[in-house]
Amino acid sequence: MHKAFHQGILIIERLEDNGHEAYFVGGSVRDTLMNRIIGDIDIATSATPKEIQAIFPKTIDVGAEHGTIIVVTSEQESYEVTTFRTDGTYTDNRHPDTVTFVKSLEEDLKRRDFTMNAIAMTKNGKILDPFYGESDIKKSVIRTVGKATERFKEDALRMLRAVRFSSQLSFSVETDTLLGIQKDQALLEMVSVERKTMEMEKLLKGQGVKNALELLVTTGLHSFLPHLEEKGNHLREIATLPIYKLQSRSALWTLLVIVLEVDEVGCFLNSWKLPKKVTKAVQENLKVIEEVKLRGWGKEVIYRSGLEQSLEAQQVLNVLGWDKQGMSVHIHKIYNSLPIHSLKDIVFDGNDLINIAGEKRGKWIAMLYQDLELALIHEETQNERAALKEWVCNWLQKYDQNY
Ligand code: ATP
Ligand code: MG
Repeated sequence: MHKAFHQGILIIERLEDNGHEAYFVGGSVRDTLMNRIIGDIDIATSATPKEIQAIFPKTIDVGAEHGTIIVVTSEQESYEVTTFRTDGTYTDNRHPDTVTFVKSLEEDLKRRDFTMNAIAMTKNGKILDPFYGESDIKKSVIRTVGKATERFKEDALRMLRAVRFSSQLSFSVETDTLLGIQKDQALLEMVSVERKTMEMEKLLKGQGVKNALELLVTTGLHSFLPHLEEKGNHLREIATLPIYKLQSRSALWTLLVIVLEVDEVGCFLNSWKLPKKVTKAVQENLKVIEEVKLRGWGKEVIYRSGLEQSLEAQQVLNVLGWDKQGMSVHIHKIYNSLPIHSLKDIVFDGNDLINIAGEKRGKWIAMLYQDLELALIHEETQNERAALKEWVCNWLQKYDQNY
């Protein structure tokens, strides 16, 4: 078994030693069967959250009422351990009104979304697969466990998850599951934006994104995602771009805003409930890109936005095909050649300024620093005390003449 499971095996053994059943479940089992890189390793067990907490010295309660406890191993690795459960009815199409802990693995697997995600694996690598997920994996199809429309009524997010998995795994959606999506698409409206955002980001980064976005539009699901209702054709356009080259969330959302031709960027990003940090970075990227489209990569824009932001904006330009390959080397070169990278690098501080100009405070100080930054970047003076002193005296003289 893959090395990643080793610590997990110890957790399963501990649970078994205490008289419980425990198995690997979900994505890690699916990915093992597909020879894909494994993400998080989840464990399902007959032990209740209280029993799990009593067995392991270090645990984190992330949702004991839903049965989930994180077990932290001696190597500081975290594993989600979830009690076998069935979900009660979903009156809001979002979350189960109740969860009931159950004793059988099969009942737990039955509440899972797709057959490929409803496979369990023992600590010895034996596969338990009551819904024939392995056969569906071999056929490369995504099929709901049980009747699609019933499962989508319970939790409408599963429709978007089907499209997300089709993107990540390059699988097709089995006919009844697809018909279910077409029929129930509007239920997606009820799902919280945060859950949609997570799935959408994974969808966009999948290898099969081209077909997945086509599927998103043809099923009509896109109409129930924030501000995408009118953007079917734009989404198809995104599908033709090498999105996988983008490394960060902010780069991804910058690309979306550009290709979707979003007018009100703040409003659009807010409606997807992105963290403030991401929203801010997207807005910075857009400013940089606008500047670069007008004037190219100059010293000033690289100085103002810094190396990281410049490279991120360049990555977006590259994906859009608006920029030449190898431009990041050029940006690095310019950045490294800058005599200063921020105000802090100027070897002339507030005290020096007071010594020359006296104690008068005022907006002139900010103006002086702005001009000084530019003068240094464009090498009109040097970042060295004598030269700076001279430059400041000249500047003050001109300032006094003008104001
Ligand atoms: P990834 O590799 O992207 O993490 P995953 O299959 O592990 O994929 P998760 O979202 O982490 O997906 O969920 C873990 C498991 O929990 C799934 O494999 C599935 O069995 C179950 N699951 C998750 N979300 C749902 C849902 N909305 N409805 C039913 N089962 C779900
Ligand atoms: Mg997972």
